[in-house]
Amino acid sequence: MTGFATRAIHAGQDPDPHSGSVIVPIHATSTFVQDGVGELRNGYEYSRGANPTRTALETCLAALEGGRFGRAFASGMAATDVLLRAICRPGDHLVIPDDAYGGTFRLIDKVLRSWGIEYTAVSQSDLPAVRAAMRPTTRVLWCETPSNPLLAIADIAALAGIAHESGARLVVDNTFATPYLQAPLGLGADVVLHSTTKYLGGHSDVIGGALITDDAEVDEQVAFLQKSAGAVPGPFDAWLTLRGIKTLAVRMERHCDNAERVVAALQTHPTVGDVHYPGSETHPGHEVAAKQMRRFGGMVSFTVRGGAEAALAVCARAQLFTLAESLGGVESLIEHPGRMTHASTAGTQLEVPPDLIRLSVGIEDAEDLIDDLRTALG
Ligand SMILES: *Cc1c(COP(=O)(O)O)cnc(C)c1O
Repeated sequence: MTGFATRAIHAGQDPDPHSGSVIVPIHATSTFVQDGVGELRNGYEYSRGANPTRTALETCLAALEGGRFGRAFASGMAATDVLLRAICRPGDHLVIPDDAYGGTFRLIDKVLRSWGIEYTAVSQSDLPAVRAAMRPTTRVLWCETPSNPLLAIADIAALAGIAHESGARLVVDNTFATPYLQAPLGLGADVVLHSTTKYLGGHSDVIGGALITDDAEVDEQVAFLQKSAGAVPGPFDAWLTLRGIKTLAVRMERHCDNAERVVAALQTHPTVGDVHYPGSETHPGHEVAAKQMRRFGGMVSFTVRGGAEAALAVCARAQLFTLAESLGGVESLIEHPGRMTHASTAGTQLEVPPDLIRLSVGIEDAEDLIDDLRTALG
């Protein structure tokens, strides 16, 4: 297998055999000509089922995660919904992280629960607690590492062992780490999920999701639901995501460099409380992160002294760090999880600290980012 950056630029992206176009064309078509009834030219029939631009993206995603099967979706949540409905039936049980992505938690708690799915939320860095939460009906152990927004680290290989002992599958939401920094399938995970909206797309200009697996049974169910429910990305969206992926390796190196500089500045600032970054030697998950990740990513969260009011004021004063939800783009973003991305967890077991601020550290000049944070912190 070629190196990561080579795969990102070439996997699934051979020059177009018809025109010679070096870049995969945007196949803006809903349907494909048949040479006779049921005689498809290149296997394409109707774009909900498959479209060549989407195929290029799916092939590339599978190559990046080192999996046999890749499927692209209209959003990360569409991928999550399809995956859980592909694997679970009413009465089945899930074990999810107690700091799961807010949208994932909302889908499971508000939508899938009414469909008869049960769940237990536990801290995934607490392996005995995870093991104790597994039931005979548990179909999926869901893992996010690093987690959102607290950057907790879960040991993927250990979780795979626990899932498989119970006859369940381990799903890893690899959105924060990206396949450049972490390869869950190689550590024993059964399925990798992405919100390609974030680092894979990388430019905050397109929403998308993906599922990658080596498990033919799961992929067959996923492909069936992808086609039957139709939450697919259009060819323009698939093309934009593919364009973003080409630079993933260089972007991630710079995101990591800048995050390390920002963390060092925050750690010595008098109004900053806890800084959460798995690259810090004091982070409780540092050792596991160092074992399973190439570097530690571009996401950082921290608390400020003075509670929610102080945290909101810092978000309001930041200039270069744009106040917005989402993450993983070239530009730096700041947000208040308690009032923004994680507002739906208020009053639940998954509620986040009110004085927490989350940064998506972009690839601007590190000095400018640090100056902006110092001003915002006052
Ligand atoms: C954004 C995100 C999702 C959801 O993806 P969408 O593309 O917004 O639907 C899922 N998991 C994580 C970790 C995310 O950051």
